[in-house]
Amino acid sequence: MSAVYIHFPYCNSKCLYCNFYSETNLNTQKRFIRALQKEIELRSGELRKDTVKTIYFGGGTPSLTPVKDMALIVEALKRHFKIAAQIEFTVEINPEQATPDFLRALRKLGVNRISMGVQSFDDRILHFLGRRHTAQQALEGIRHIREAEIDNISIDLIYGIIIRGGDEWLHDLEVALSQSIQHLSAYALTLEENSILYKELVQKNPAAYQVGKDMDENIALRDMNLLLQQIANTPFKRYEISNFAVPGYESKHNSAYWDGTPYLGLGPSAHSFDGATRSWNVSSIETYCKALESGEGSFEVEDLSLTDHYNERILLTIRTAKGIDLKKIEEQFGEVYFTHLMNEIALLNKAWYQIENDHLILTEAGVALTDHITVQLLYDSIM
Ligand code: SF4
Repeated sequence: MSAVYIHFPYCNSKCLYCNFYSETNLNTQKRFIRALQKEIELRSGELRKDTVKTIYFGGGTPSLTPVKDMALIVEALKRHFKIAAQIEFTVEINPEQATPDFLRALRKLGVNRISMGVQSFDDRILHFLGRRHTAQQALEGIRHIREAEIDNISIDLIYGIIIRGGDEWLHDLEVALSQSIQHLSAYALTLEENSILYKELVQKNPAAYQVGKDMDENIALRDMNLLLQQIANTPFKRYEISNFAVPGYESKHNSAYWDGTPYLGLGPSAHSFDGATRSWNVSSIETYCKALESGEGSFEVEDLSLTDHYNERILLTIRTAKGIDLKKIEEQFGEVYFTHLMNEIALLNKAWYQIENDHLILTEAGVALTDHITVQLLYDSIM
């Protein structure tokens, strides 16, 4: 079983907080689609005839791509990969592109899950974040997805925004949870180094930034607590630190990343993992297209050491509700890593975790300290 991710590297404009690779000149889209078809062909051997169980079109803004071009990509995937009969096929869309015609066409293409970047149901916050859509468009977008008979809907919200009070965040949550959605991803606003917000705040006024950062952390904690209170009486369950789903609607694609399943990432800046090595494509449409036009890919490869593998397992699984599979760690990494892990667990505060069926699972108190606990369990931390 494996997963395929495709990065569509275009956006109409850059949101202030965004660190994903994308460009705003859409004129190269046709050339990119041709290069992507070539990459699919060239790299089809990398999944070693594994059956593809999930396909994810992310970005950037995949919904800026005409459906007929997406269809070319789906055809190429079908031609070069073994695709399971029942797959999870997700497309990320922005609310302003969630029109009935577009969604019906996606449904016809086999898309059965939509992830919509809502971020907030408050126009003032959307404006602050540099988003192009309104709250009304987000609500209409969700309705259009349902009307197109795509019944696996995920939305993203951003929390920890310094200019938003607790009541306004509560309002966002109430609106979100009153919609027919099955999945919610909530991400804290962070100042990523390549974002416009970072350049505006950090580079221009580092002292003010530090004060703001401390406040942000408190606000993020307040917002996450409000979120947990709000979902407590709903069918939603937290299954990863930032992800909540009605049981049965957990993202299979993201779960594959966390489980260590091999995945192939295609398109500029996309990352891949084949079980032993990690690779990533160049973050430039121009270089990406040029390389593929001359019959080559343009990516870097890193062989992972056993310690890298162990650390990655810890980093990814500690964030999930399933937790760290202790038996698997022993089987996969052997005595040295397993003993290290158990010794470090013994030093943790018992209120932070529980062990259930050979899995270490963080409690709510532990989840709030995930970063601190993770550092303690990593192998390098004893070197
Ligand atoms: S957040 Fe999404 S829509 Fe905004 S610039 Fe980044 S990739 Fe594009």
